[in-house]
Amino acid sequence: MKKRLLELLENAYAPYSHYPVAAIVVMYDGRTFEGVNVENASYGATICAERNAITSAITAGYTKEDFRELYVMTKGEKPAFPCFLCRQVLAEFFHKDSKLVIMNEEREEHYFMSDILPHPFTSEDLG
Ligand SMILES: [Zn+2]
Repeated sequence: MKKRLLELLENAYAPYSHYPVAAIVVMYDGRTFEGVNVENASYGATICAERNAITSAITAGYTKEDFRELYVMTKGEKPAFPCFLCRQVLAEFFHKDSKLVIMNEEREEHYFMSDILPHPFTSEDLG
């Protein structure tokens, strides 16, 4: 996983932040989907690596109950957590006990989604 994530970093489009990010989601059937961050001159139009990977899985026909794990690689000095916009999307598709691995080239850290989403807003809140 780490080797592939490092390769994917080279595909990130990050001319503004110079902060490439790569993500891989693993489905319960073992299939994986990849994403990198794609920035835009209009910064708000930027799409994060995590959401690119998730939307690729949805496009391929997977759904809410299919997401098992998420791996995120950055080139920063330390592994970085998904941004809060991505966390909201993670809350839509992953279980609270789904595995999250954040890493850079030197280090990796393991979490559960519930660690970064202790009180998510979900469809259950819509009543
Ligand atoms: Zn994000």
